[in-house]
Amino acid sequence: MFEVLSRYDLSKLSIATLASHSALQIFHGAKLEGFKTVAIVTKDRLWFYENFKHLIDYFIVLSSWGELCREDVVKELQSLNTVLVPHGSYVEYVGLDCAEGIEVPILGLRKLFRVEANQWAKMGLLQRAGIPIPKLYRVDDLVNELVIVKLPGAKGGKGYFIARSNEEVVEGLKKRLIEGLIKSFDEVIIQEYLIGVPAYFHYFYSPTLNRVEILGIDIRYESNIDGLKRVPYIVNEFRINPTFVVIGNIPLVLRESLLTKVLEYGVKFVEETKKELPPGVIGPFCLESIVDDNMEIKVFEFSGRIVAGTNLYINGSPYSYLYWNEPMSTGRRLARELKLAIERNTIDKILT
Ligand code: AMP
Repeated sequence: MFEVLSRYDLSKLSIATLASHSALQIFHGAKLEGFKTVAIVTKDRLWFYENFKHLIDYFIVLSSWGELCREDVVKELQSLNTVLVPHGSYVEYVGLDCAEGIEVPILGLRKLFRVEANQWAKMGLLQRAGIPIPKLYRVDDLVNELVIVKLPGAKGGKGYFIARSNEEVVEGLKKRLIEGLIKSFDEVIIQEYLIGVPAYFHYFYSPTLNRVEILGIDIRYESNIDGLKRVPYIVNEFRINPTFVVIGNIPLVLRESLLTKVLEYGVKFVEETKKELPPGVIGPFCLESIVDDNMEIKVFEFSGRIVAGTNLYINGSPYSYLYWNEPMSTGRRLARELKLAIERNTIDKILT
């Protein structure tokens, strides 16, 4: 990466991302901070992103996402002095090997992708960080409480299900095996089903300023679980199974007394990644939690990159405003970090 970077003209850096997920926010923020932008886009989506030409300086058009690591595509990205911003769909679209191995500087921690791809490694990292997590089970462990069975990959909760016993776990998994949603039972993780309200905390760790910022909080709106409360008697009568497919995001501000813990967990996460995966997480990450009626926060998942819930705050959030006193989205914050790092000569701290 440093060899590639040594050939770059740092005064002409451009910010690239896959045209999906939170790309418009990333381009918008990059433009506000004075960077050129590169949309890596598949043919079928080009027409849509062309509607935002004012945010995009260059298009790199692919037939499929898998072409990202093709030599000519990588060369083109390098010739545009590109820094790549990975978002929540990046690894899912291009595959782990390409995502991790691409010879283009990444604004974020590359090493974290492999940890994120393994649900057990992920939960282990949270646990060692000292962040409370739900009880975890493997398929063979005795299950005698409400659990959620989670399939691998960032597919927005697709195929997840709730079970109350080992029989229900196995029954659900067999169905998903037939449907081709999993290849083996070992791929899944089973967690205690947490009762409370969901809250997803968006953080930004700045190696340049050496601080963790809370940039926003959201709730994911999921189908059909969030619709079931509208017809509670039908749920019971017909024993409808809840599903967890993400449809959108809703903004949230927390009781201020909860923020202490939120920041504490963010700092713990940063410290643990520094210890286990030096130099540690860079830029945006998200802790996904359920907050119960004792105001206990348990984190059931994390994302080491910008999450789609940040799209709520393209014009800044009630929290980002406290740090910056100007509209500061996560996309803009990424570009601001790059700008600050160039000014302060700390670019090697934020690119991997
Ligand atoms: P995830 O893919 O881990 O982000 O989970 C998708 C959705 O499933 C979440 O947004 C929650 O609504 C729900 N969920 C995941 N894990 C748990 C848990 N341990 N307890 C309760 N709900 C959960």
